[in-house]
Amino acid sequence: SEKLLEIKNLVVNFKMRSGEVTAINDVSFSLLKGEKFGLVGESGAGKSVTGFSIINLISKPGYIKSGEILFKNKDLAKLDYESIRKIRGNRISMIFQDPMMTLNPVLTIGTQMMETLMAHKNISKVEARKIAVEKLKKVHIPSPEKRLEQYPHEFSGGMRQRIIIAISLLTDPELIIADEPTTALDVTIQAEIMELLLQLCDSMGMGLILITHDLAVVSQVTDRMAVMYAGKIIEEGNTLEIIENPKHPYTEGLIAALPESADTKEKLNQIPGNMPGLGKIPEGCSFHPRCTKMMDICLTDEPELKEYKKLHRKISCHLYNEKEQ
Ligand code: SF4
Ligand code: MG
Repeated sequence: SEKLLEIKNLVVNFKMRSGEVTAINDVSFSLLKGEKFGLVGESGAGKSVTGFSIINLISKPGYIKSGEILFKNKDLAKLDYESIRKIRGNRISMIFQDPMMTLNPVLTIGTQMMETLMAHKNISKVEARKIAVEKLKKVHIPSPEKRLEQYPHEFSGGMRQRIIIAISLLTDPELIIADEPTTALDVTIQAEIMELLLQLCDSMGMGLILITHDLAVVSQVTDRMAVMYAGKIIEEGNTLEIIENPKHPYTEGLIAALPESADTKEKLNQIPGNMPGLGKIPEGCSFHPRCTKMMDICLTDEPELKEYKKLHRKISCHLYNEKEQ
């Protein structure tokens, strides 16, 4: 299948008063047309920054220091503002956790949808309205014609997130980047919305990058996933294979911390310690202070993300050096 997106050796730095720090350190991954990919990790791992850099939405003091972001073979990292604006919200849409980052509280849903469409397409108001109604139907909003006249506060949290998805679909994008799209919602509604997003991606042939800390959500929706830690990918492969048989000690820890069942919501085995902050990344393997399998080499040598064909996996950990390659 055809490649939709390929990120190569992405480095994102932040210019701090005390000097420059690296937030995203040599991240590479790719997505086939229509593929659904999860970016997973605790908060601060660099998942959102990676997602934002794809559409050039990193805010200062962050900037893309090096690397390529090839979208249908065009390097988005090298496009000027105007060209990237044409792709963002058009060929690539973004869904945020907080609906209010997308929705303007003082405009009706209809006005917002029609304005979005007319900013990207040369169409009349009547045509824009027709497309808005059609997209609201796709996300199962009842009586869409009537709903277009309403304001964001007149919808429930779940409905608002459906509207956000409808807005992201307006231009029939080829890729949706969804950053914790359902985290603010309760579990049942969360599952419904993820299911809807999954169905829409499949029926419309859209690719999806799902950014989340929630492994249950990732396993429900994605084909492949990458686990991020301290600005790097530390494990990447088929989603179900990773969840059933994690290889990197950090991934193992994340999976061990999953609640056993939907009823026991408390996490059982949290990984002790915290993700290192920006500019405070330890020498050697950045996970070593928290790793129960740490060896001497882990203190000094940074492991590379390598492909292990037999394991059907990319892993960045010294445990897998010669043994299994
Ligand atoms: Fe643990 Fe060493 Fe592997 Fe890092 S490289 S995850 S410290 S075993
Ligand atoms: Mg985030």
